[in-house]
Amino acid sequence: MNQPTPIQIVFKNIHKADSHTLEVYLQGDGYKSMAKALHRTPEEVISEVKASGIRGRGGAGFPAGIKWSFIPKASNKPKYLVCNADEGEPGTCKDRDILRFDPHLLIEGMVIAAYAVGAERGYIYIRGEFFRESQRVEKAIQDAYAGGYLGENILGTGVKFDLAVHLGAGAYVCGEETGLLESLEGKKGQPRVKPPFPANVGLWGGPTVINNVETLASIPAIIEKGGPWYAALGVDKSTGTKIFSVSGQVNRPGNYEVEMGISLRSLVEDYAGGVKGGWDNLKGVIPGGSSSPVLTRTACETVTMDYDNIARAGSMLGSGAVIVMNKSVCLVRAIARISRFYRHESCGQCTPCREGTGWLAQILTRIEAGKGRAGDIELLEELCGNISGKTICALGDAAAMPVAGAIRAFRDEFVFHVEHGRCMVE
Ligand code: SF4
Repeated sequence: MNQPTPIQIVFKNIHKADSHTLEVYLQGDGYKSMAKALHRTPEEVISEVKASGIRGRGGAGFPAGIKWSFIPKASNKPKYLVCNADEGEPGTCKDRDILRFDPHLLIEGMVIAAYAVGAERGYIYIRGEFFRESQRVEKAIQDAYAGGYLGENILGTGVKFDLAVHLGAGAYVCGEETGLLESLEGKKGQPRVKPPFPANVGLWGGPTVINNVETLASIPAIIEKGGPWYAALGVDKSTGTKIFSVSGQVNRPGNYEVEMGISLRSLVEDYAGGVKGGWDNLKGVIPGGSSSPVLTRTACETVTMDYDNIARAGSMLGSGAVIVMNKSVCLVRAIARISRFYRHESCGQCTPCREGTGWLAQILTRIEAGKGRAGDIELLEELCGNISGKTICALGDAAAMPVAGAIRAFRDEFVFHVEHGRCMVE
């Protein structure tokens, strides 16, 4: 099957040799969007990004331009721009490719964003496991300083922006924006109670914008071609392109940049080479990272990859990590594995999350081991209800949603496991 020609906004350079270098980046008109933006007013830049309709690509999907406009202009505290490169959602590996292959695209997007919100200092918070990627980004930052694209007087415009890398230690919860800020301040990465939100009280108490790598890397194209051009891509409230990390039982796993609103089936069959064993061998798909509820094959037939349609199908677009499972997969085993991940990553501040993630993992592990008890499924459902929406950050929901979603969609598998002490697919 021929793979369709992809639209490349974020991935426009990564197929070039040495795409991570300043030299190659400049050959592809690198930093021209930044120069264009710095000759406009910050308000005009924010309006352009608002017109694009781009929503945060890290998982929450909040409109980026609106987030930028929340930064109070009158504040006398220093403002900050932070790039969330923690990318810890199981199944997601798109930001890693941007850091690795096109760090200057990210830097250019950050300078534009910083100018728009009035930040003179920024950080790229990279998860500790991305050590080599962090070295690439560090080198790119050095080269950007030497080339006049960062520092005191960027391209002679008088605009100032200093940028540094901060390596995390590999905690999933530091992908939550306030957990990230705590970690960046040198403390334990435990999320803060909100409000106040980072736009008002963020890093060291200053107004702070936190954006995902892919979001920021999309900004140069929006400035170059205009917000309306970007908004014409994709569908209604899910504009532009999105990088989907397709993994699991597909013939060609990988990161694919496609227009929002593509059908899940096309993404899997036309780009990722199809389900191993054919489409009829599909069991279900986790469409937005491990925290999103699994979709049944019936739902996968018609769902499109945009925020609203996936929500209507009962799941979330999340970070765009599409985990494909064929009929060889034991759903109970898969969900038990996911639940152990969330138990491990709970920071322990809130009782429903600290205790609940442990109980979910314990019960699911017991069912998986063939020692499920009558009432276990109902107990899992009750636990999920007691965690969801009752915690400081979204990790509690992230732990509960895949369990509740899997039971909702594949209840017969859970019942079979409890009643027969073994997996249905064996
Ligand atoms: Fe920590 Fe979990 Fe509470 Fe988030 S929900 S703050 S991870 S205990």
